[in-house]
Amino acid sequence: MATIELEALGKIYPGGVRAVQGASLRIEHGEFVVLVGPSGCGKSTLLRMIAGLETISEGTLTIDGACVNDLPPQDRDIAMVFQNYALYPHMDVRTNMAFGLLRRRRFPSAVRALLSPDYAANRIKERQEIDTRVLSAARTLGIEHLLARKPAALSGGQRQRVAVGRAMVREPKVFLFDEPLSNLDAKLRVEMRAELRMLHRRLGATMVYVTHDQEEAMSLGDRVVVLKDGLVQQVAAPRQVYEQPSNRFVAEFVGTPTMNMILGDMEARATGMRFRGQGIMIEGVLDAWKPFIRPQPRPVVLGVRPEHVRIAGGTGLPATVEAVEHYGDRMDVVLHCGDRTLTARCAPQPLQEGAQVAVTIDLAQTHLFDPDAAGARLRA
Ligand code: ADP
Repeated sequence: MATIELEALGKIYPGGVRAVQGASLRIEHGEFVVLVGPSGCGKSTLLRMIAGLETISEGTLTIDGACVNDLPPQDRDIAMVFQNYALYPHMDVRTNMAFGLLRRRRFPSAVRALLSPDYAANRIKERQEIDTRVLSAARTLGIEHLLARKPAALSGGQRQRVAVGRAMVREPKVFLFDEPLSNLDAKLRVEMRAELRMLHRRLGATMVYVTHDQEEAMSLGDRVVVLKDGLVQQVAAPRQVYEQPSNRFVAEFVGTPTMNMILGDMEARATGMRFRGQGIMIEGVLDAWKPFIRPQPRPVVLGVRPEHVRIAGGTGLPATVEAVEHYGDRMDVVLHCGDRTLTARCAPQPLQEGAQVAVTIDLAQTHLFDPDAAGARLRA
């Protein structure tokens, strides 16, 4: 186990691309942290800097209290699992898993034999220990029966387990994962996620995981680090990221269907708060907003998650059903409301396209953001 500390970490690639900027974060012993963001946001670069596969341009990287900025990867006690698994096709599973340990020898056998009279005995002991570790990892991952197979004779999920097993046998302080599930089909990906979480619990190891898939990030991480254009946007537990996104980007990146964003003005009135914009008016009593919403209308972006757009029977905002998507346990409804389109997520109900409905939005379940480019969350 290990703590990892990033202090204002930055990466400038030759040619001047600023891939990561001012990344500061402390990862605790045994924590599972997921770096997530759209393609090109710098998440792989950040992970590779932790691994030592990419030089650090700015800032400090500390593992267990020691600066490792200039430490080569093999001395960092870190194991990385890659997207393409990087298995050796000519070696069986057992050898693939043991490879990281076998490779550590610095001298050829003959030199070692001369240097140490106990060489042969030590070598047997070493081999036995490696075998034990491989077997134990294989058991944990349920691939014991595959040890003699070559990678070509394995399914995608099995290859993935072998790649994880190879990292496990090294018993590293830190596990790093770079999109390890993206080559698997959707169903297997979900299964492997659950396996990885269980594995994390069992090993109690510090894990850092990169994905572009927000759902994967939310389901795996103790904490999620959302990145955009090389900048950390938010570091928080998945639930907090979902319920209190730090800005518009995070709010829209996390959650499907994406959060509805309505541009308008919010004002405080004697009877409560009133939002008006894009042909939509919502009123409600919300004391929490009093400190920053005044009687003068203030321009805001009002965010509302689809599950908080309610299709009501009686009174509400008039809306037309434009499209309906059924998922069995729920449905998504695209509505035309005011001057715009809103998405609602609700329990299955008989709704036809073209139907006239009423929509209600509870202000207490909405989010407020600055309308400027940064789009920061407005808080009391
Ligand atoms: P992500 O993993 O989030 O998709 P990357 O960390 O791979 O993003 O890349 C971040 C940015 O750095 C991108 O703009 C990418 O084009 C750039 N980049 C990545 N690797 C290199 C490199 N070796 N040389 C120059 N630019 C690079």
